[in-house]
Amino acid sequence: MLQTVDAGALPRLRMYVGGEWVEPASGTWLETVDPFTAKPWALIPRGNAEDADRAVRAAHAAFRTGPWGKMHPSKRARILFRLADLIEENADALAEIEVRDNGRLLAEMRHQIRYVPNWFRYYAGLADKIEGTVHPCDKPALSFSRPEPLGVCVAIVPWNAPLLLLTLKAAPALAAGNTLVIKPAEYTSATALKLMELVEQAGFPPGVVNVVTGLGPEVGEPLVTHPLTRHLGFTGSTRTGAHLYALAAKDVKRVSLELGGKSPNIVFADADLDNAVRGVVGGIFGATGQTCIAGSRLLVHAKIHDAFLDRLIAFTKTARIGDPRNLETKIGPIANSMQYEKVLGYIDIARQEGAELALGGRRPEAAECGEGFFIEPTIFTGVRNAMRIAQEEVFGPVLSALTFEDEDEAVAIANDSEFGLAAGVWTSDMKVALRMSEKLEAGSVWINTYRDISYTTPFGGYKKSGIGRENGIEGIREYLQTKAVWISTAAEIPNPFVIG
Ligand code: ADP
Repeated sequence: MLQTVDAGALPRLRMYVGGEWVEPASGTWLETVDPFTAKPWALIPRGNAEDADRAVRAAHAAFRTGPWGKMHPSKRARILFRLADLIEENADALAEIEVRDNGRLLAEMRHQIRYVPNWFRYYAGLADKIEGTVHPCDKPALSFSRPEPLGVCVAIVPWNAPLLLLTLKAAPALAAGNTLVIKPAEYTSATALKLMELVEQAGFPPGVVNVVTGLGPEVGEPLVTHPLTRHLGFTGSTRTGAHLYALAAKDVKRVSLELGGKSPNIVFADADLDNAVRGVVGGIFGATGQTCIAGSRLLVHAKIHDAFLDRLIAFTKTARIGDPRNLETKIGPIANSMQYEKVLGYIDIARQEGAELALGGRRPEAAECGEGFFIEPTIFTGVRNAMRIAQEEVFGPVLSALTFEDEDEAVAIANDSEFGLAAGVWTSDMKVALRMSEKLEAGSVWINTYRDISYTTPFGGYKKSGIGRENGIEGIREYLQTKAVWISTAAEIPNPFVIG
């Protein structure tokens, strides 16, 4: 199970660098807290720039001089397939760890982690199918291009879906032949460390995959600014993403950023309302609203507003809130105390702005919720799109309901946002659905569904929701660069001093 080096009250985890389990240079650890009990359950190493440097050097050596750099892609693929099998075998154990760290529902995390091996298999399958191109060259030469890996890639991931979001980066990066340093969120580092046991068993050469843990500015930033790192794959807030983008720009590093959202879920009057209610509830209260793709703005046609809200509220009230390990629970706690305070703050802001509280807005009273970081599913009506509650990402179980009169107004409200991650459209009219899919400024548009993600389908943001795409064939291109090779076919090289 988890790496323990101290027999003290809490297990002390170690980082994984250059194929070894190491203690942090600082000699200090951070508590990782179970959000259901609000009590610490393990200690994670507080890494710093020295640890980051060790990890990057190990990854660089593995890329330059280790067997990984010379390995045929089909052999790399075999290791990735083994890792997929090992994750599958350990999925439930990984899910238990994830739930302890971030309070997500055990039922949901089991499902999610059982799905994770698909990414490793998809990209393992792609590893030996990345082909170059022979160009129709207009010169007496053969010119062709070779897709090549970038070198050391950095993956910085958040706390809401730690293993999945790490996988979205690790699978294509490794399949493409890069080496990797992962920095999980300080609240949820345990599954990334557990994964390293499986990486070891799968047979990755030392240094190909490394994990350093700790605080973003202390150990994450030195990875981004390190002269030997070539790419940053980041999922997290727009604020942190923009900061890291600026740092990466100084050294002209590539970035893939998957950032915030304020996604509209748009319900037309002709929609199947039972399905729409489920989609809207799943979109905002699934994962207790803590997903970048949360459908946090409900745009509902004025004609059905009251009837729809009644149904929505009645259905939401049926959700059991409490222990995330209970398989009957539908809504768990907020993942950490900082986020908990932030969500409560936004509920106050919405009230002050004049939005009407139609449901929730408080801590639940159930004894089971105890000291945990719980907030009732919350719905505000009478929201105007200019309000902060409609413009800013809350990252919690708070839905803002707005109305629209026609298609054009729905599009105008939906696109009046600095974000553009996703959108949902609920209608029985496929003409409306297709027109909406063209007009919405969003990286994913779901028609009569919401929150679907697959390893096959590109995912990413418009506007301030991000740069680049994860998943699908596009996803591996983020981790490749093109080298053009020219071979002269001329019998004689022209005299460079004679032009024309
Ligand atoms: P949140 O505010 O929701 O925790 P962040 O975007 O700040 O989201 O965090 C996402 C990831 O980015 C986490 O792994 C976090 O440690 C990391 N991070 C935060 N700040 C920095 C930073 N200045 N440099 C590098 N990584 C950072």
